[in-house]
Amino acid sequence: MRNNLIAANWKMNGDTASNAALLAGLRLANPNRSCEVVICPPAAYLGQVQALLPEMGFVLGAQDVSAFESGAYTGEVSAAMLRDFGVRYVIVGHSERRKHHAESDELVAQKTKRALAVGITPIVCVGETWAEREAGLAEQTVKRQLAAVIHANGHCISEIVVAYEPVWAIGTGQTATPEVAQQVHALLRAQLRAATERSDRMRILYGGSMNPGNAAQLLAQEDIDGGLVGGASLKGADFLSLVSAAG
Ligand code: PEP
Repeated sequence: MRNNLIAANWKMNGDTASNAALLAGLRLANPNRSCEVVICPPAAYLGQVQALLPEMGFVLGAQDVSAFESGAYTGEVSAAMLRDFGVRYVIVGHSERRKHHAESDELVAQKTKRALAVGITPIVCVGETWAEREAGLAEQTVKRQLAAVIHANGHCISEIVVAYEPVWAIGTGQTATPEVAQQVHALLRAQLRAATERSDRMRILYGGSMNPGNAAQLLAQEDIDGGLVGGASLKGADFLSLVSAAG
């Protein structure tokens, strides 16, 4: 019912030469795969990557979008501009943006709305810190983050992708066990079910140190429908292995 989605978050890495080399290596991906593959380069390289992706059957994504439509917002990139570059997915609410740019649940909800308004699928990130998990607040935290997005987006909520990214697992090499991840994914699916009758078709990705060694077990969980991948997406062989684990 749901095909896996693997999204590469290159974060603030790369240059024209290394991007071209990385993408050249990804041409080896199985053309008969059923999973969808999204590459999210830094905004400065959207044009370069846009030109190279179609021949691989990958689609273009972005790492962030402005909450505003247009105008005097220096440094921001609007949803319409992303669409102009052929962007199909955009990551919103990544924990690095929540942390370094003080993005609130409400701002993330607005960004989600902007993306949906132009037909771009938002990949909405939720996840608890280690301190929140230790305090027994993991479920409450992710539910609060998702509730803000549901509240602001009404029936359009069925058009989003959710990514569960425990903050303590991002870039640390410490992955949530498949059981822990599945438990949170099932909780998020139940929350979506209460908001839309289309929840069974919605994809919930796992993100946090996904690598070739743990991907198959994570992806085998009932409510894990793909991965949002940081570090391993910058290594061609590792990323190819994740794509093949996703089917
Ligand atoms: C991410 O940046 O969303 C991420 C999951 O990073 P990593 O795979 O490096 O943990």
